[in-house]
Amino acid sequence: MRVCVVGTGHVGLVTCASLAAVGHEVVGVDSDEAKIEQLKSGDSPFFEPGLPELVEEGLRSQRLRFSTQIADGAPEAEIVFICVGTPPRESGEANLVAVENATREVMQHLSRAAVIVEKSTVPAGTSERIRRTLQRERPDLAPQVDVVSNPEFLREGKAVEDATNPDRILIGADGERAFVPMRELYKPWIDRGVPVFETNIATAELAKHACNAFLSTKISFVNALARLCERAGADVVAVADVMGADDRIGRQFLNAGLGYGGYCFPKDLLAFERLASRLGYEFGLLREVATINDDAVRAAVEKVKDALWNMEDKRIAVLGLAFKPDTDDIRLSPSLALARQLLDEGAHVVGYDPVAGLEAKGEIPDLEVVNTMWEACEGAHCVVIATDWQEFKDADLERLRSTMAYPVVVDGRNIYEPAEMNRLGFTYYPTGRPVVS
Ligand code: NAD
Repeated sequence: MRVCVVGTGHVGLVTCASLAAVGHEVVGVDSDEAKIEQLKSGDSPFFEPGLPELVEEGLRSQRLRFSTQIADGAPEAEIVFICVGTPPRESGEANLVAVENATREVMQHLSRAAVIVEKSTVPAGTSERIRRTLQRERPDLAPQVDVVSNPEFLREGKAVEDATNPDRILIGADGERAFVPMRELYKPWIDRGVPVFETNIATAELAKHACNAFLSTKISFVNALARLCERAGADVVAVADVMGADDRIGRQFLNAGLGYGGYCFPKDLLAFERLASRLGYEFGLLREVATINDDAVRAAVEKVKDALWNMEDKRIAVLGLAFKPDTDDIRLSPSLALARQLLDEGAHVVGYDPVAGLEAKGEIPDLEVVNTMWEACEGAHCVVIATDWQEFKDADLERLRSTMAYPVVVDGRNIYEPAEMNRLGFTYYPTGRPVVS
């Protein structure tokens, strides 16, 4: 099929490359000229394992092209994906200006019957807005154009794996006609047995928000438990293991730590809460989830203060700046929130991340960013594990102790064994587990 993907960011680029890989003709469009130049020359604009290879395969087969002009992709497309950003407004509501602009531009260039697909995460009701805009912009074509919701569930760091082998495909449409081309588009996945959920549009839009809100709730639940375990002398990892052994609960997303971040959970949770409020339902649980998440970073800062007394003239190494491992995405990263709070306390903060250092420096100029974990830890009074990269899990802990000025580790991701840290002579503050001193 001929497909146009508007927005070639973390979601759009993976969408482009995975659709081209199964044989569709795809044009990826982005208003960011530098990004499109990079993509045309075979460079990846962000770090995502396996993605450069998939994009290169698409370019080589000539089934994947990139452009800054919607006019290069939309007129011939049978399906147009909208994958632009939906950042939070000050109020927490989703800012849908990019979605409106992109869809309006697409509509102006449509020349045939087509399906406009919202892949960006948007509040329930957005498709209705798009449909109204369509009627105003293109009354001539509106009866032949369908609007579909097809939310994306990929995880950064595992995006290619998730796109190739998703655990479900969700298609929301109001009317059988729109499902037909979507089934054809996803036939290679459907033939492999990937489950497809077909719903009305509002259900699909709402289901995506519900998934992210529920996962955030699970994380905040275990972080609240961590605060309680710290006070009761209990071990949150063992508590989570016991809970997770119950199939009805499941062990995933029960890891206590600095909380969730990134471009999905924080903004989607707030946008969902705002949507509920606008619809007349006060979803207070979601507000509490966000509060507990903010507290997770504050709790780690308190541990650093407890260990070091005054923060002025103390060198603190923050290991991990991306919001999770295997990505260079620092958007709403808890590590950066932590670094900011430590800087506000007057500490000298040195950050290291295997891939996100440059991005973090751009975001927090006062943060010293170095190129190796050992440079960061040299002479440090405290090391904070902020992102659970494999490199930190594999680190030589004896070397770490001899590198640091004080052997103090605050582990915001519970990557080390308390008994081992004790044996090596660290003062070790895990999350939700007894302090080792
Ligand atoms: P992103 O910021 O990485 O990419 C968005 C892209 O859209 C940018 O490259 C930007 O230049 C481009 N853009 C904006 N306006 C445009 C326009 N009018 N015309 C052409 N291009 C335009 O964002 P992302 O992480 O890919 O997220 C996109 C959407 O997908 C969001 O709604 C997000 O919530 C959702 N989502 C993200 C993830 C994730 O893990 N990042 C997962 C699932 C869903």
